[in-house]
Amino acid sequence: MLHCDEEDLSLLALGESGSADDEAHLSTCARCQSRLDQLSAVVKSARAVTPGDHPIAPPASVWAGISTELGLDAAPSGTVTSIDQARSRRGPRLWLVAASAAAVGLIVGGGLVTALGTSGSSEQLVASTTLGPIDNSGFSGTATMEQGGDGMSLTVDVPGLPAVTDGYYEVWMATPDTATMVAIGTMRPGQPATFPLPAGLDPTSFPVVDVSVEHFDGDAGHSVVSVVRGQLTT
Ligand SMILES: [Zn+2]
Repeated sequence: MLHCDEEDLSLLALGESGSADDEAHLSTCARCQSRLDQLSAVVKSARAVTPGDHPIAPPASVWAGISTELGLDAAPSGTVTSIDQARSRRGPRLWLVAASAAAVGLIVGGGLVTALGTSGSSEQLVASTTLGPIDNSGFSGTATMEQGGDGMSLTVDVPGLPAVTDGYYEVWMATPDTATMVAIGTMRPGQPATFPLPAGLDPTSFPVVDVSVEHFDGDAGHSVVSVVRGQLTT
């Protein structure tokens, strides 16, 4: 299964409605959901921009310097006073506007996607699961396993996990009976985390994903205090 297209996620972030396939995938894929959250946050910030945030005209001396540098025939007769005016002109001035807009974070759409990277496009979803609460912990999340160019990775997202005062969260993969558990890595509360999986770890032998609370006690084994757990399905 493939992840959502970056462009589709951008459109969703901008408030467009998505395809049924995308909606279905988003409900099970922590990675794409977290990507959408990221894009939505940027869109929200961009929409919160007020006229006071717009670029202002630089002193005439700046333009004179640029004209000289670019070997332009003449500096404009007046100073550049608005974006609309600048847009109506041609030539090197256009990239000045683009540069100003980028400087105040106004570039959205295609530029936004480029700025945030496109690392998701070459990775394939191998298996996923929802993570249900253990011992009425009240938390739930998602886990997705992906095959990338350099191996398998596991992404775990458990929204709203609180900080542990004298410990930390550890992600495990386990056999179906949880008799054998492999420590995958530590996880910060409230942030999705992606772990590279060791080559040779067979996800069909270790399909259970578990998040536990561990303490700084030097005991490398599972504390037996789990907050969420689920079993990956392909
Ligand atoms: Zn996805």
